[in-house]
Amino acid sequence: AKENGRDAVQAFSQELSDSARRKFLRAEELRTAIQNDEFVLDFQPQINLTTGLVSGVEALVRWKHPVEGILPPSEFIPLAEETGIIIELGEAVLRKACQQAKKWSMNARHRVRVSVNMSPKQFQNAGVIDHVKAALKESGLDPSLLEIEITESSIMRDIGSAAGIMKELTDMGVDFAIDDFGTSYSCLNMLKKLPFSRLKIDRSFIMNTPDDEQDCAIVTAILNLARSLKLQVVAEGVETIEQAQFLHLAGCEHGQGYFYSRPVGDLTIEALLDKQY
Ligand code: C2E
Ligand code: CA
Ligand code: CA
Ligand code: CA
Repeated sequence: AKENGRDAVQAFSQELSDSARRKFLRAEELRTAIQNDEFVLDFQPQINLTTGLVSGVEALVRWKHPVEGILPPSEFIPLAEETGIIIELGEAVLRKACQQAKKWSMNARHRVRVSVNMSPKQFQNAGVIDHVKAALKESGLDPSLLEIEITESSIMRDIGSAAGIMKELTDMGVDFAIDDFGTSYSCLNMLKKLPFSRLKIDRSFIMNTPDDEQDCAIVTAILNLARSLKLQVVAEGVETIEQAQFLHLAGCEHGQGYFYSRPVGDLTIEALLDKQY
């Protein structure tokens, strides 16, 4: 038994070091990928449920890995966040998103807002304001066409510093949306204290509408709350026409999801900007 125990410990430490080594190598790969410009953005339209027009697009990062092919954010964002690489990666995403949106905005009909996801570490980083300013300046994008999506976890640590960062950026005309709303401890106080202009209802609440009465009640309650706080609402993960109709009737302004379009490349999204849903 003693021998077995020792083997188990050995196997365990071997496994640990293997996974630590894999992580280390993956992190190195991520750093190189930034240098080699292997990250690309897909865009998903956000539809104004009243007019059927595209009111904005969300930028979603993908890694064009030279061997493994296109990797979704779930494969690398957590490690980038854990290692701090997210700060540099996020900067690259911001620059690309602003450049794209500027390019579209040259055509008046394509002047749509671009929404960029910002991770907690990136948002809490001291350089974040300069990064946003630099991306706007370099691209020449009108700041009012940029929206930053953050989640509740970005704010929870320190509401005061979040307020300072948001104030500086909203003063420039940049907007903020609260992402995945409803999924963490919703400190409703934070909605009142911080200058958000939009709230994105998490897909998990939309998924079972309009059949599930409880989910319909939750969505309706969030819409009422948003209305009284003067926040616009985007419903995430709209997959069916029934969901779209329910949301429109309930007074939700914007919808985003596979029912309209999956995230697509820059050329495809440009064509969608002319479409009326
Ligand atoms: P998110 O910000 O909540 O983005 C929405 C995710 O839901 C996207 O997944 C999108 O493809 C997916 N989605 C959209 N409509 C539907 C639908 O109708 N049904 C279903 N089942 N899914 C839908 P994606 O692109 O894999 O991104 C996953 C997450 O990765 C994002 O969640 C966001 O948290 C993070 N992420 C993506 N891009 C970035 C980035 O540039 N920076 C940071 N920090 N995080 C990012
Ligand atoms: Ca988002
Ligand atoms: Ca604005
Ligand atoms: Ca979301």
